[in-house]
Amino acid sequence: MALKESYRFTERDLAKYPFLREASEYLEEVGFTVKDIEAEYFRPIIDRAYSRIVEAMEKGVVSLGLGEPRLEIASFPVAVLLVRFVRDEFLVRRYALAESLRARELLEGEPKSLVGALASRLGFRAEIGNGYAKLYVLDYLKYASRFHDPRWKLVNRVLDRGWVTLSRRELVRLISEAIQDSLTKILSRPLPGDAKPPSTFEAKIIAITSMLSDRKVKYGGWTDVGFVEDALPPCVKAMYTALRGGKHLPHVARFTLASFLLNIGLTVDDVVKLFISTPDSDERITRYQVEHIAGMRGSMTKYTPPSCSTLKTHGLCIEDELCREVKHPLIRYRRGMRRVIGGGGEGGEKLREA
Ligand code: SF4
Repeated sequence: MALKESYRFTERDLAKYPFLREASEYLEEVGFTVKDIEAEYFRPIIDRAYSRIVEAMEKGVVSLGLGEPRLEIASFPVAVLLVRFVRDEFLVRRYALAESLRARELLEGEPKSLVGALASRLGFRAEIGNGYAKLYVLDYLKYASRFHDPRWKLVNRVLDRGWVTLSRRELVRLISEAIQDSLTKILSRPLPGDAKPPSTFEAKIIAITSMLSDRKVKYGGWTDVGFVEDALPPCVKAMYTALRGGKHLPHVARFTLASFLLNIGLTVDDVVKLFISTPDSDERITRYQVEHIAGMRGSMTKYTPPSCSTLKTHGLCIEDELCREVKHPLIRYRRGMRRVIGGGGEGGEKLREA
């Protein structure tokens, strides 16, 4: 039942999926070489590579940019090189996810021949029908086991002699996980110790590094230390604990928790995983809502959590000593982080007294 690899990727396909081996072969054929990276003609390619990364950081998804296929294809390996020079774990995760979401959005509208060819490239043994797909059980389990929604559990699937039936949309969801994994691996690969960035990269690397450190300053350095439960404001901690305990949260609390976690840097996937761990949650609806809050849908506005005064109005404030004079939960998180990591800064003296 494995797919035959008869599909020929067009230039437009490669612009959509520039991580494919065929995209590198295409670039070789048209004479694109990174040796020219300091040449003037390379500037628009570096600019687009840079914008791919900025979009990933700011919006969580890379734009489609299909107007100039050749530029789109060439900018991808350059963006990969830029990320590898920056060497930041958060950036690696963020960029891999943003490119996989771009591919997912595009794949949902593709014919079955292309979806099948891409699935095959990524090692899936699958057969695509009209609106459904069959996937070899081990390939299914490799990715579906990451999701908490009961509909992904094997016991809730039709399993016929080692093949799992799923919708085309579900297959695309699994393909995007595989793309994210594969990109994370590529982006994490260290460059040779003596590798020096070309001069045309310097300004971009400085700008990306500065964007990353702005996030660290703004959110108390979370990108270095990750999510720190002990630093959470008491209101958010209560919501988080209730959700983990399978309790139902009112709408305002769900919005506060999701927007808070996204603003301290958790990915959409991380937040969706948390929310769908409760009974009766629907992953598709949850993901839609979380992506909306993250600014990846609708008005493309990334929401911040409500202020302390709004949370007080809704009876969700559980003020503690670190909340003194705080007007926003994100500021309270920064204080909490400083206490946890033992730093000073804003409110530091008061914290040490407390
Ligand atoms: S003061 Fe603000 S941060 Fe502290 S518990 Fe109340 S709402 Fe949350």
